[in-house]
Amino acid sequence: MSGLEMRGRDVRLEGVSITYPNGFTAVQPTDLTVEAGEFFSILGPSGCGKTTILRTVSGFVEPSAGRVLIGGEDQAGIGPNARPTALIFQNLALFPLMPVWENVAFGLEARGMGKKARRQRAQELLELVALGDQGEKLPSELSGGQRQRVAIARALAVEPAVLLLDEPLSALDLKLRQHMRAELRDIQKKTGVTFIYITHDQGEALTMSDRIAVMNNGVVEQVGTGDEIYSAPQSAFAASFVGEVNAMAGRIVATEGHLARIETASGQLVGRNAKGLGVGDQAILFVRPEQMVFGDPGNSFTARLKRRDLEGAFVTYEFATAEGQSLTLHQTNSGAPSPVAEEARIGFASESAVILPEGPLARTGQELAAQ
Ligand code: ATP
Repeated sequence: MSGLEMRGRDVRLEGVSITYPNGFTAVQPTDLTVEAGEFFSILGPSGCGKTTILRTVSGFVEPSAGRVLIGGEDQAGIGPNARPTALIFQNLALFPLMPVWENVAFGLEARGMGKKARRQRAQELLELVALGDQGEKLPSELSGGQRQRVAIARALAVEPAVLLLDEPLSALDLKLRQHMRAELRDIQKKTGVTFIYITHDQGEALTMSDRIAVMNNGVVEQVGTGDEIYSAPQSAFAASFVGEVNAMAGRIVATEGHLARIETASGQLVGRNAKGLGVGDQAILFVRPEQMVFGDPGNSFTARLKRRDLEGAFVTYEFATAEGQSLTLHQTNSGAPSPVAEEARIGFASESAVILPEGPLARTGQELAAQ
């Protein structure tokens, strides 16, 4: 990578809100810092405002209020071509009649770079994305994943400090998508360029990102590492959008230290009071399926087994309580036959559950995948 000199810069949104000319506010006032050289994902359902934020960073949309700073420089009035950013969409738009290397070098001619230097730069970039021997081919002679890597090489050719990726893998099939996750992560780490990656796929966000912003309805609800968001969600939406979860709604009846007791349809349950809720507040208790166990570790119910699915490394049980609450339990597959009784006592430890203010829940991953 001798000739390539890439360096990420930080991106800051200060009080940025975005209202479109028709009066619709797609992004509520938002403060967000993406560190230099970070792989940062913005995760949320369709229509929540992710792309709008990306357009504002790239300069295609001016914020209605607030400031966008890249490397500490206010970007107000700076057009997309003059910003240190490059953008990759899901539709690649490679030039079909140009060999791969010319596709990669396309933006460099306008910058006054001669043909030999362009060829050299394209070769370095193609090596970076593991396509060093494919430069003379036409895009149609490459696989979908290879074409995606050409698009990444092309975006990196202008040595952006920030690469903005808008659902770049969504047109690929599942296997390729999973493979490309690792590739993208690898390329990001090798170049040190700041990546801001837009996705509605929590699996993508969790596997690739240093940090994630969970967004819903124009609001960034939580920013953190995947681990932080998964194990310590800060909103009902974040808890239900990232990973599978059991949710039980009710009202707080007591608090003690960092714990709270909530009265639900299935009885009183205790969990971590993550947001300092008080007695009388409407709330939802969340517990992950792998935190549910057979027996009574503090909170428990008798529930009827509806189905048992062997998933290989683990087993998934679907239960229903007498009150009609459905609960999912994951257990590591020990190889021993699992209990098959119609009724079982199942529960969770108070420390493994989190109680959050009542709020909208995300639709399930399956519904999202079916979009
Ligand atoms: P998706 O994943 O479907 O691309 P998104 O989270 O990226 O969704 P945006 O494209 O940012 O969402 O759109 C956010 C909201 O703003 C949506 O309700 C959308 O209909 C609206 N919107 C987007 N562009 C415009 C526009 N030019 N004028 C008015 N409203 C717009």
